[in-house]
Amino acid sequence: MEVWIKKAAYLDMRAENARYTDTETGGVWLGQVCGGHWLITHNLSPGPKALHEPGRFAYDHEYVLTQAEQITASQQPVSVIGYWHSHTSGRDIPSPGDASLDEQFAALTTNGALCGIVTNRGGFCLTLYQAKLPLRYKKINFIIMED
Ligand SMILES: [Zn+2]
Repeated sequence: MEVWIKKAAYLDMRAENARYTDTETGGVWLGQVCGGHWLITHNLSPGPKALHEPGRFAYDHEYVLTQAEQITASQQPVSVIGYWHSHTSGRDIPSPGDASLDEQFAALTTNGALCGIVTNRGGFCLTLYQAKLPLRYKKINFIIMED
C-alpha cells in the first residue's frame, strides 16, 4: 500500500513539529483507505495536555478522541487511520514503547496501523511504516497531494 497525504495535513504536521525542536511531539491522522492506498486528510494536534519531553511523547487522549469524533461524525467515511511522532534521538525506527501502541492499534484494523516517525537531522524527515500483527513493520512510500 502507498500513502497519499493531503498537503494541508502535511503542512500541519510540519508546523507542529517546528514548534517542538528539543522535545518530541506528534499527531493523529484521519483519513480513509481507498483503492488500495491510504489517504490522510487531516492531521490532529496532540492536544494541550500532551506530554512533550526529549525522548518521550504522549498524546492528550481525551482531546484527540473528542476532535476525532467531531470530524469523523461529519465527514464519513473518514476515521482514525494512524499517527506520527517525532524522535529527538534522530532514530527513524519505532522504539519498544512505540511497538506496544502500534500493536494495540493494529489489532483494531484490517490494514494494520499507519505509523510515522519524524526526525530532524538535516531538516524535516518523515518515515512511514505499516505495522501488522503479529507485529512487524514495513516501510511504505508516501506522496504529498496538492489540494
Ligand atoms: Zn517513538
